Amino acid sequence: MSTRPLRLYNTLTRAKEDFAPIDPANVRMYVCGPTVYDFAHIGNARPVIVFDVLFRLLRHLYGEHHVTYVRNITDVDDKINARAAERGVSIRELTEETNRIFQADVKALGCLEPTVQPRATEHIAEMIAIIGRLIESGHAYAAEGHVLFSVPSMADYGRLSRRPLDEMVAGARVDVAPYKKGDMDFVLWKPSRDGEPGWESPWGRGRPGWHIECSAMSWKHLGEVFDIHGGGIDLVFPHHENEIAQTRCAFGHDVMANVWMHNGFLQVEGEKMSKSLGNFVTINELLHSEKFGGRMWPGPVLRLAMLRTHYRQPIDFTVKALEDARKKLDFWMRAARSALDGEPASLTPSDEVIEALADDVNTHAALTALDRAFGATGEVRETAHRQLGADLAFLGLATRSELKRPHVEFSAVPTDEVENLIAARIAARGAKNWAESDRLRDELVAMGVVLKDNKDGTTTWEVKR
Ligand code: AMP
Ligand code: ZN
Repeated sequence: MSTRPLRLYNTLTRAKEDFAPIDPANVRMYVCGPTVYDFAHIGNARPVIVFDVLFRLLRHLYGEHHVTYVRNITDVDDKINARAAERGVSIRELTEETNRIFQADVKALGCLEPTVQPRATEHIAEMIAIIGRLIESGHAYAAEGHVLFSVPSMADYGRLSRRPLDEMVAGARVDVAPYKKGDMDFVLWKPSRDGEPGWESPWGRGRPGWHIECSAMSWKHLGEVFDIHGGGIDLVFPHHENEIAQTRCAFGHDVMANVWMHNGFLQVEGEKMSKSLGNFVTINELLHSEKFGGRMWPGPVLRLAMLRTHYRQPIDFTVKALEDARKKLDFWMRAARSALDGEPASLTPSDEVIEALADDVNTHAALTALDRAFGATGEVRETAHRQLGADLAFLGLATRSELKRPHVEFSAVPTDEVENLIAARIAARGAKNWAESDRLRDELVAMGVVLKDNKDGTTTWEVKR
């Protein structure tokens, strides 16, 4: 294990600091998750992947069962209501379907499941409890069915974003409303009309504002003060600033979380991603369609492309970067596979990788270290390549079973697709549907896959070179 302490850049102090968990037996991290109304785009994948790497690192440093990682699911939001109405489906159907796709997408990107994935709609009681405390202590007031947080009631509001007051006021003015006492006051609770989702509360039937959801879910699962809070840089203001205001004023602590971490933004081919620019791309499209660069991109390739840039830097997502990542991963996988032939991969990462990650999750440096395996000869090389396999597994770039079976070039065929087609063909044969079985075989052959049907009923495959 690395002897260097973990150091993390803290947005709250604008400095890289030694990390000291409140309780090393239970290191606690909260990351703002998706609002489930539409497919997640590749920018949304960035915090998911980055904090997955940190989760893996924390588990390595403190023990698998000593880290609690909470990533919420925002399933009550006006964007959700609007989209459900537009599509003529129920809110529940929309959020369930969107969440299912999100979970499959991020699994394909090699992310572990967080310890808890709380849903906002299951934490309304906690939200009402926090709002009640805020009203009692003079930090919030009810007006016309709304409850607002009173920003002037908090002496050091704005410590995270350090924005000049006039900028914050300008930002808050977006929501001008007669019931607001202060320009910057923000909504904790708002009334729901018939047909809108709503819950009974001391202030009438209504629904929560966005910020209060995260204060409630982090409180329930991590307590009043916890170790790490993460999200994209765009969340610093107002979302995280307001989470801090609510939680600190409700519970009376100096901080909500000790370390605040924010990933930089992702652009596509040098431009901000937007539907009007036509460069808007979802994780699902990258994985399963040929929309971006004319081909499908396997999850590990997307993940590698993401991790080659340090998380705090902006990242430019390009077809060229994906192609480079694909070639690099093929090269590594070939080497790791040849060394691991038949042998189960040990999952202990190398000191170099851990040291790089311990320096503010420097994935760029960790990945550079993987290339040190090349150049040696003989047994040294064998060992280095076996270590490479373990490092790829640790970084979530290959699973144990992928390392054990023959590597199919990512450049040639997407492994998932092949496996799915083979499974479908086995099912077709089981049902004696020979026409379908032949059709699937032809499809696989067209992809350059050679099948071998074994006597025991299994099918093995390789790529024709
Ligand atoms: P949202 O669904 O907009 O609340 O975003 C979910 C998460 O994705 C948040 O942590 C955002 O900060 C992050 N995010 C959204 N767009 C991007 C982007 N273009 N680059 C990096 N992170 C992003
Ligand atoms: Zn949040």
